[in-house]
Amino acid sequence: MKIPLLDLGSQLLPLRDEIITAVTNVVDSTTYIQGPEVLGLEQEIAQYCNVSTATGVSSGTDALLVALMALGIGPGDRVLTTSYSFFATMGVILRCGALPVFADINEESFNIDPVAMAAILEADTEKTIKAIIPVHLYGQCADMEAIMALGEQYGVPIVEDAAQAIGAEYPNSAGEWIRSGTMGIAGCFSFFPSKNLGGIGDGGMVVSNDSSFDKLLKMLRNHGANPKYYHAMIGGNFRLDPIQATVLRIKLKHLEKWHKARRTNAAVYDRMFSETTLITDKNLTTPVAVYKNVADTNLSGTEHNYHIYNQYVIRVENRDALLKWLRSHDIGCEIYYPLCLHEQECLEGIIERPSLPHAEKAARTTIALPIYPELTEEMQKHIVDTIVAFYQG
Ligand SMILES: *Cc1c(COP(=O)(O)O)cnc(C)c1O
Repeated sequence: MKIPLLDLGSQLLPLRDEIITAVTNVVDSTTYIQGPEVLGLEQEIAQYCNVSTATGVSSGTDALLVALMALGIGPGDRVLTTSYSFFATMGVILRCGALPVFADINEESFNIDPVAMAAILEADTEKTIKAIIPVHLYGQCADMEAIMALGEQYGVPIVEDAAQAIGAEYPNSAGEWIRSGTMGIAGCFSFFPSKNLGGIGDGGMVVSNDSSFDKLLKMLRNHGANPKYYHAMIGGNFRLDPIQATVLRIKLKHLEKWHKARRTNAAVYDRMFSETTLITDKNLTTPVAVYKNVADTNLSGTEHNYHIYNQYVIRVENRDALLKWLRSHDIGCEIYYPLCLHEQECLEGIIERPSLPHAEKAARTTIALPIYPELTEEMQKHIVDTIVAFYQG
């Protein structure tokens, strides 16, 4: 049985006619920059996230970049973030001329650890840390209540890298469920095709509840112009394409259903792995939601943090050999990410290498399995059986 890591074709099939018609309408409209489709998507995403403003941009990377630019991040500044993320999280910091400073991750959630963050902020006596970027990795919110408290205590704004986590929810101590990306000054989403809400190319969005900040974002994505041809600031061309917007509006209507299917698949994997001896004999771990801030402690693990499972990531022994084994059995899998950000060659000589044992351990032991909504239980059984066979071999 051949099982890909992601099957975009099976998601496209039932929507194909609607998508082709919508794209054709954009082509025929001759409105190729901004326009009603981009505006419509911005309004729908703002509503979905329960925020007042949304700004469509060219990618998740550019969402992060314009957010940092709007905060005025530049040379001499540092930005506190996690080392266990996609490159863009760090790339945008360096492109602003600032430097990253890394806090280690929580071993269970893989997200940035507020205790490690607090130590770094406390040691920052010169106050060079001008922003914090928590990443909601794999579709699960970082511990935002603690992170927001740190931001407030040290007076540092928070930009959420929610590229993998649109629609994920986080329970605050009042028991309210808050959508990812809506807690900091800005939340950044990616519509890269492999994300839970993916376009037919690149796209991104920044959401905010701060209308003056949003005004800056909308200027910066269009060369800092306001009005046209008058530039009080230097921005770039970071606009969202209306063809992407029209496709994303169609897909947004199905997003909750897809999240639920991914969560069901995750629960099926959890059960299947718990029925093997791998967890006790081979130190295999399945994903956990660890933030228990809600008053009701009887909620089950995954309900503590509404995880949207952009990735289902397990931790295993002998990871690289397992990866080869699965691929040789036609099972798609991937490592997110084999190298931490602080280990990247491009950073050599730029910052002193920090000690981040949990992040480094994650980079050596994790593997992502197929979790897309259309995955069947039969396929999941085959994947788990193939993993069991590897360790029995
Ligand atoms: C995908 C991703 C990005 C970048 O998004 P693009 O749309 O590919 O530019 C940034 N951060 C994280 C954590 C991501 O997963």
